[in-house]
Amino acid sequence: MSEKYPVDPAFAEKARIRKDDYERLYTESVRDPEGFWKRMSERLDWIVPPTRIKDVSFDPANLHIRWYEDGQLNVAANCLDRHLDTRGDKTAIIFEGDDPGETRRITYRELHAEVCRFANTLKNLGITKGDRVAIYLPMIPEAAVAMLACARIGAIHSVVFGGFSPESLASRIADSKAKLVITADEGTRGGKKIPLKANVDESLTKPNTNSVETVIVVRRTGGAIHMQSPRDRWYHTVMEGQSAHCPAEPMNAEDPLFTLYTSGSTGQPKGVLHTSGGYLVYTSLTHELAFDLREDDVYWCTADVGWITGHSYVVYGPLANGATVVMFDGVPHYPDYSRFWQVVDKHQVTLFYTAPTAIRALMREGDGPVKATSRKSLRVLGTVGEPINPEAWKWYHEVVGDSRVPIVDTWWQTETGGFMITPLPGAVDLKPGSATLPFFGVVPAVVDADGKPLEGEASGNLVITDSWPGQMRTVYGDHQRFIDTYFKTYPGNYFTGDGVRRDADGYYWITGRVDDVINVSGHRIGTAEVESALVAHPKVAEAAVVGCPHEIKGQGIYAFVTLNAGESGSDELRKELIASVRKDIGALAAPDHLQWAPGLPKTRSGKIMRRILRKIAENQPDQLGDISTLADPGVVKSLVEERLVKA
Ligand code: ATP
Ligand code: MG
Repeated sequence: MSEKYPVDPAFAEKARIRKDDYERLYTESVRDPEGFWKRMSERLDWIVPPTRIKDVSFDPANLHIRWYEDGQLNVAANCLDRHLDTRGDKTAIIFEGDDPGETRRITYRELHAEVCRFANTLKNLGITKGDRVAIYLPMIPEAAVAMLACARIGAIHSVVFGGFSPESLASRIADSKAKLVITADEGTRGGKKIPLKANVDESLTKPNTNSVETVIVVRRTGGAIHMQSPRDRWYHTVMEGQSAHCPAEPMNAEDPLFTLYTSGSTGQPKGVLHTSGGYLVYTSLTHELAFDLREDDVYWCTADVGWITGHSYVVYGPLANGATVVMFDGVPHYPDYSRFWQVVDKHQVTLFYTAPTAIRALMREGDGPVKATSRKSLRVLGTVGEPINPEAWKWYHEVVGDSRVPIVDTWWQTETGGFMITPLPGAVDLKPGSATLPFFGVVPAVVDADGKPLEGEASGNLVITDSWPGQMRTVYGDHQRFIDTYFKTYPGNYFTGDGVRRDADGYYWITGRVDDVINVSGHRIGTAEVESALVAHPKVAEAAVVGCPHEIKGQGIYAFVTLNAGESGSDELRKELIASVRKDIGALAAPDHLQWAPGLPKTRSGKIMRRILRKIAENQPDQLGDISTLADPGVVKSLVEERLVKA
C-alpha cells in the first residue's frame, strides 16, 4: 500500500478549492460540460462572448474539436491590458540571468508597452494575422514579449528551444514556413556561450527555409556575429520610435495561437497546433487552481519557453492570471547546486514548478546544497515531465519542502495544453508517485489492448473520453497524422500513449509509455515501477529500464543505473540492486542485466529516451531512429561501448 499525505488542514482552510468543492465541481464539470465551461470562460475578457461552447466529435471519420467557436478575444490583451487598471505597477516578470548578478523586474505596464512596441515592429516588417514567426531565444523577457506581440497581431508563433541545432531549427522553420525569425546574438547557460545567431545563419542555408525574410536579433552578450543586410535587423534598432500603443487584433476563439513540437521521446516530434480561446481558459484556470494562486504569490516555473510548460505555465496561464512570474535563464547546477534554492530565497518564491530530471540531479548531490538555504517562502511545489519516482518525491517533499509544502504532480502533454491529472493542493490527499485525480472536465479511462474500458482498480492504456478546452486541434500541416496518432487506436477516445494504473482510491499512476512496456513471460511490466524500485536504493540517482530479447521469457529486463555522486558500481552492488527489485516488486521484474550508466540519453527537455536505450540493449546501435531531440550524443556512445550483452 502506498503512503498517503493528507491535505494539511491549515492549508485547506485558506485554499481556493477544498475537498468538497473539488467533488462538487468535478461532478458538475462532467455532468454538464457546456454549462461548466461557459461559466469558466467568464474568467477572460471577450470582445464577443461565446454562445456556442462546445462542438466536438472524436469519431475519426468526422473528427472536429471546437470550443467557444463564435467568441472573439485577444490573448495578449487578456495577459496584459486587462491588468493595467488594477495591476499596472505589479511585477509581471522577474528576470534572473544565468549569472546570479543579473536581475531585472518588469511591471505589467512596462511589459504591455514593450509588447505593443514589438507588435508594431512586426507589423512594420510586413507581418500580418496568420503569418508564422519563429522564436529562437534564450529564457529572456524578450521571448515572452515576442510571443505576446505575435498573439497581439494574430501571428502564429513557433518557439524553438535555444538548445536545438541548426538542422532542427531549419526543419521547424521549413514546416511552419516562417516569414520572420527572432533570435539573440548568443545565449549563456551554465557560464557557456550558445551561438544562437550563427545557428540561425546556418539553418537558413538549409532547404525550404527561404520563406524567412527578416531575422531580428536581440543583443544579449555582445559577442561578435555576422549581420547580413538587409535580412538581419537588431531588435533595439527596429524598436526605436515605435509607439507603445497597438490595438489588439480581435481573434476568433478557434484562430491558431501557436504551433509547438512535442519533446520527441517516443519518435519524431509532432507539430502541435493550439488555438486561442479554449487554450487560455484552460491554462489560466488550471494554473490558478493547481497552484492555489493568490495575488501576492511569486511563481517560478523552471521550464524553458521552448516547451509547452514554458508556453502554458511561464507565459500564458500565469500572465492571464496577473501573476508575478520568475523567468530563469540558467541551469540548476550553476554556479553551484544551490542555485534553485538561492533564487527561491532571493525572490521569495512561493510557488515552484520543475521536472523530475532536475529533482533527481539535485538529489544526487545530497541535502547540503538545499539545507544551506531557507526556502521558508515556498507554499506549493510542482513537478512535470515524467513519472516522479516516490523516492525523489519524498526528497522534494522532505528536504526541499521541509515536510511542510504540498507537491502537485501534474500529468499532461504538449497535446493537452494544460494539466489533466493533478492534485489540487487544498483538496486532494497526496501519494508519492501518483498524479492523483483528474482536473475538472477531464474524463480519463483505462482501457485494455482491445479498447475495452476497465472498471475500478486496473492497469492498461490511458485514454481521455471527451474533449477539454485546452486540447490541441491538429498536427500543423498534417491533419491525417493527428487523426491517426490520437484517435484511431481506440475509436471515440483520445489516446495519450501512456500506460496507467488506477488504484482502489481511484488515483492514477502513470506507468510509462505504452511503447516502452516490457512483456516478460506474458506479463506486462511498466518502466516506472521498476525504475522507482531501483531509485529507492540510497546509492542510486537515476535508472531506466527497457526490454531486451530473452530466449525463454520473450523479453528480459535490461536496466541502466546512474549512481549518486561519489559512488561507484561493483558486482556486489549490482546483485544487491537486482535483489531489491525482486523483493519490492517480484521475481518477474528483476533485471536480467544491469549496466552502470554515467548518464542517460535524454531529450533536450530532460526526459529519458528509452527507445534509444532499447536499441543499445538489443545491440542495434546503428538503428537509433530520430535522434534530433537527443541532448548529448556522447552519453549514447559511452553506453554502447559499455554494453553488457555482446553480440
Ligand atoms: P513525444 O510525444 O514526441 O514522444 P513527449 O511525449 O515526451 O514526446 P511531451 O508532450 O513533452 O512530449 O511529454 C508528455 C509526456 O510526458 C506524457 O505523455 C507523459 O508520458 C510524460 N509526463 C508528463 N508529465 C508527467 C507526470 N506528471 N507523470 C508522469 N508522466 C508525465
Ligand atoms: Mg508524447
